[in-house]
Amino acid sequence: MILSPRGVEDILPAKTSQYQWIEKEASFLFSLYGYEEIRIPTFERTELFSRSVGEETDVGKQMYTFLDKKGRSLTLRPEATASVVRAYLQHKVYAQPGEWKVYYMGPMFRYERPQAARMREFRQIGVEVIGEVNPYLDVELIEMGAQFFKKVGVTDFSIQLNSIGCKKCRVPYEIKLTEYLKNNLGSLCSLCQRRSQYNPLRVLDCKRKSCQSILRKAPSTREYLCEDCQSHFKKVKMGLEDIGLKFELNPRLVRGLDYYTRTVFEFVSSLLGAQDTVCAGGRYDELVQELGGPPTPALGFAIGVERLLAILEKKGIEPPSKGFPLIYIATLDEESQIMGSRIAALFRSQGIRSWLNLSERSLSSQLKVAHKREIRWVMIIGEKEIKEKKFILRDMQSGEQEGIEWDRLKELGKKLK
Ligand SMILES: [Zn+2]
Ligand SMILES: [Zn+2]
Repeated sequence: MILSPRGVEDILPAKTSQYQWIEKEASFLFSLYGYEEIRIPTFERTELFSRSVGEETDVGKQMYTFLDKKGRSLTLRPEATASVVRAYLQHKVYAQPGEWKVYYMGPMFRYERPQAARMREFRQIGVEVIGEVNPYLDVELIEMGAQFFKKVGVTDFSIQLNSIGCKKCRVPYEIKLTEYLKNNLGSLCSLCQRRSQYNPLRVLDCKRKSCQSILRKAPSTREYLCEDCQSHFKKVKMGLEDIGLKFELNPRLVRGLDYYTRTVFEFVSSLLGAQDTVCAGGRYDELVQELGGPPTPALGFAIGVERLLAILEKKGIEPPSKGFPLIYIATLDEESQIMGSRIAALFRSQGIRSWLNLSERSLSSQLKVAHKREIRWVMIIGEKEIKEKKFILRDMQSGEQEGIEWDRLKELGKKLK
């Protein structure tokens, strides 16, 4: 037997309904804010990610990179922002007036150590806005994230907020931070020691207790913000306060990717244990230019779908039922199968999901199938029923059954639940 590779999993029908529900809620809500869906490729030229995500970041190191048959280096997308920006540039969207608001959903790939709610293939739902610098857009984006979580029943999250400044103010800050880390190098974990050389900012979110006690006293990005970044951040905070959305300032929130600037935020749930971030995002005002476009501010966020589903499971939240009744049509021989298929067509045209038995199972074994699959309605078509053109409808919940004439079958859609 061939098993799936480590770190990927099948989403079986019992679970796809949850994904569909989440995706439907997201696309509906995002469209209320003016977003439209974009579908980006699953793999890109490696260069796109090494220039955006950064090769020395965690994500950069976890990329699935391979050579194709012509020896070109390609990478399975580890995230979607870089592809969206690439599409923005490739299709010259910047030539159109107004900002570009898109959302996406789909699988991402990272070579990680598999653990609960962290797989090598995982799904993200995310949004990007390209072309607007207004801080109230940051506020709207965060508010939209909060609305989404509320919509699916998740209310116990905290919003962590920080500003990590721009190119201009990050340089003096990184000098100060590197100096501080150097002075405390002996007390930091080995990962932090390495990071302090190539990506000092990332040291700040080390989860180790021993590192955290050192990092608590480290200089904070916010003390070094330039005037523009300061005023931007002030307005973001004001805007959030204005709409009554609670947030916590977290000076050690820096995000794991190279391209972030200014506002960064995370939605954190206490229900998730160590993997507590369920949504993360921020501004990336320099990325469009970095990838060869005109200077263009941008921002976005991504929701980890598996992490969100883990929260829903812990809270016992189930997607609402599809709303269409399901009926199992039990048949006994070829003649009743032919009649059954006519009845099934009649049902389907009324929006009744109809499962026609085409096996040679006995009636009692067919009823067992319906029972096991929790199908409430069963229609039984036997010789006598065909002759009388009156078919037995059984309610598996109550055990009651009644005869239904052909003419009444046409209106059964209104009756069944
Ligand atoms: Zn700045
Ligand atoms: Zn550390």
